Amino acid sequence: MVLARKYRPQSFDQVVGQQHVVRTLKNAILQGRLAHAFLFSGIRGVGKTTIARILAKAINCEKGPTPEPCNQCLACLEITEGRAVDVQEIDAASNRGIDEIRELRENIKFRPARLRSKVYIIDEAHMLTREAFNALLKTLEEPPPHVHFILATTEPQKIPLTILSRCQRYEFKRFPWSELVEHLQNICQKEGVPIEKEALEIIAREAEGSVRDALSLLDQAISSGVRTSQELLDLFGLADHLLLEEMAKALLARDLGACFSILQKAFDQGLDLVHFAQDLAEFFRHLLVLKNSSGRALLDLPESELAVLRTLSLEAETEEILLFFQILLGGLETVRRSPVPKLALELVLARACEVGKIIPLENLLAKIEELKKQVPLGVQESSAPSVAETPPSSISVSWGDFVTKVRKESPSLGAFLETLDPPEDKNRCLLLRVPEDSILAEKSYRDKLSSLARKYLKKEIEIETFIPRESFPSRQKLIEKPIVQEALKILGGRIAQVKLYEKE
Ligand SMILES: [Zn+2]
Repeated sequence: MVLARKYRPQSFDQVVGQQHVVRTLKNAILQGRLAHAFLFSGIRGVGKTTIARILAKAINCEKGPTPEPCNQCLACLEITEGRAVDVQEIDAASNRGIDEIRELRENIKFRPARLRSKVYIIDEAHMLTREAFNALLKTLEEPPPHVHFILATTEPQKIPLTILSRCQRYEFKRFPWSELVEHLQNICQKEGVPIEKEALEIIAREAEGSVRDALSLLDQAISSGVRTSQELLDLFGLADHLLLEEMAKALLARDLGACFSILQKAFDQGLDLVHFAQDLAEFFRHLLVLKNSSGRALLDLPESELAVLRTLSLEAETEEILLFFQILLGGLETVRRSPVPKLALELVLARACEVGKIIPLENLLAKIEELKKQVPLGVQESSAPSVAETPPSSISVSWGDFVTKVRKESPSLGAFLETLDPPEDKNRCLLLRVPEDSILAEKSYRDKLSSLARKYLKKEIEIETFIPRESFPSRQKLIEKPIVQEALKILGGRIAQVKLYEKE
């Protein structure tokens, strides 16, 4: 017998996860104010039909109506076994459903054959045809005292308002992850199957709040002899959480090479790449929630995963997380539809790695406009005399002017030069002191600098490297520097990262 049937709750007290529904129903029964029509809505496998059957027993138990049906009397037993003539389950999605509704219209006027009340449980109620809804509506407008309807649906928005307004509505929740894990643990214990808790955690996550899905995954796991989380991941072709974390880190570092090799690893392991892409998007969604500390309560995840998410959320900026989330989510559909999901996902990753290097043009233009207004009048004039004081020379420009020129040709090189002290003039060459491991360690940058120096300064540049000392000035001190504060004010920026180069 499959687990979902074996462990189907037979009384309200055995129901897990839908306490709010159970409580209200029990009260209604106690007060004898039970409605004639109910609408149970919620995702699949959260107990709608199960609770409907218990309710049918509560209404019809020989010792009832009672919130605690005995499960021993003839009425209870027949309902449990699904052979009570007065309790009818109709699957509106099946072809037979249409006939059954027609029959229902005919039979509704007759009193129940054996039980106290007739109970009609209509599953997938949103699938009913218009005629069926009309027939149902007539009955609901003047319900016979001995009839109860329970409509169960995953898509309540498809039920006509006229019907909705005559039903008492109950919304069934997704099962919280942590409770689902606990539930699975209990069942494993009863079954005497020692499955690792981590494996159950994965099952609970995959089930996305559906108890039935969780139990059917557990059925598969048990029949395949799975014991560990790794065996489970292999069985279902799921990504190890570590792989997702690695990928997220590579993305945040904009390391496309690493992204591709992680994807290759996932591919080689035979993972379902669509699922992988979805998990990855979800990962960034979690980061986004966590970045906003008030959202912490929304994350129902194992502590080990939370710890990683927390660290990453501190390192990344909200804007970039948001962009990654957007790109991954947007690319998900492409990956899903592509005949070659791996290539499609590679493209999505490549796009994601470009994030952060792009600033919308209109933002830049607006900043420039703003800056123009903020530059004090007279600055241009006051700088003019100082230029005039220096005797015009055909062979050299000042270091500051040179850096400006470099900036125009190579922004990264220019920005780097700005962090250095001006070079020492040694007549035949300029001696520039540069920290080790700077971009000038790259030949292309060195060549570029030399050629620009020859062009504008008419001099050779000699580079002397030094090893930056370990004792860095505190980041806070740097952030507090007036020039930084001024820049923040003018540009309306925020500090994303402080990189330190200490000069000798
Ligand atoms: Zn009973």
